[in-house]
Amino acid sequence: MLFRVLAKDQLISLYDILAVNHIVGPVRKGTGRQAAPLYDFDFIYDFQELRLDYTATTHSLKRFILPASETLCTFTLQQESWQKQVELNAYKPIVYFGLHACDINACNRLDKVLTGNVFPDPYYAAKRRNMFIIGVGCTPQPFCFCRSMGADTALHGFDMFLTDLGDAWFVEIHSARAFEAVNGLQCREPGKREHQRFLEVTRERLRRFTCHVDTTDLTKILDLEFQADVWQQWGEKCLSCGTCASVCPTCYCYGIEEHVDPDLRHAAKIRHLYSCNLIDFAEVAGGHNFRPQAHDRLKYRYYHKHRGFVEAFEESLCVGCGRCGQACLAGITVPEVIASVRAGEERHV
Ligand code: SF4
Ligand code: SF4
Repeated sequence: MLFRVLAKDQLISLYDILAVNHIVGPVRKGTGRQAAPLYDFDFIYDFQELRLDYTATTHSLKRFILPASETLCTFTLQQESWQKQVELNAYKPIVYFGLHACDINACNRLDKVLTGNVFPDPYYAAKRRNMFIIGVGCTPQPFCFCRSMGADTALHGFDMFLTDLGDAWFVEIHSARAFEAVNGLQCREPGKREHQRFLEVTRERLRRFTCHVDTTDLTKILDLEFQADVWQQWGEKCLSCGTCASVCPTCYCYGIEEHVDPDLRHAAKIRHLYSCNLIDFAEVAGGHNFRPQAHDRLKYRYYHKHRGFVEAFEESLCVGCGRCGQACLAGITVPEVIASVRAGEERHV
């Protein structure tokens, strides 16, 4: 890892160097509850649109790397046989300018199952290879618990990372591509003063985390509390709308549809992201539904994130971004659900 200090007015030059590619970054999208600004990731065509001071985006990056709907392949009938065409839907490289550590870690955790597993997903892998990632330090929000999930700092999975020192940017350079990009700018190696300032800014950021989840022995507690009444109570609140999965940066479950055109000469296989909270998620041919109750479906989502994934990959699939709790119309949040399950643990003592 190399470090550089970049003058504030040099950031636009970095943007210009990278703007030969598509650029995606946080932009202001309007005003939400209590007049708070709303942000989301979108394509950027003007440096002034880029809002590196954003609080959090409503949606994650999934729209770009794991779209809600994606044609996996098409089929054409030619001379009595079907010809298959596969398109990975990854075109020009995309620069992701201004990702918080939780979103970088979300991609890293998705990689474990979508590229590092027995059956890699070539569609996702192609888009991941096309990414140039610039991280930026965040200001923890009252709903962020990424620190509890080990996702508040990005150690890999980015090209460069920017930390605002007030009068300059502290730049961590993590790839040869990033080194080349920064080399064209007026920057210098950090001195003792910048090192100290960087540590102060980091300490101040850590102090701002107010939302925490106790993950101690969580996998075991979830096993012990599998039949706990709290699941029923949360299930009674849950609307089974699937919004939580749609905004979550790491929910990747999907369904496949096959369409045949009325001319019987063209067909397509389409993947749609799905949510385990939706009523028909576990319905199989013949109409049997393995999880017809809302509380079973909600519980399944928690066990996948906080138990099954931990057992398989030694870390949670939840990065603690808090988006699901912010978007849930029933007000169901991960910290409250986990705390209520842990309260059951205390009752056993
Ligand atoms: S937890 Fe909330 S967002 Fe998720 S399905 Fe239930 S009501 Fe919808
Ligand atoms: S489960 Fe909720 S808090 Fe965890 S990563 Fe998904 S959206 Fe973020």
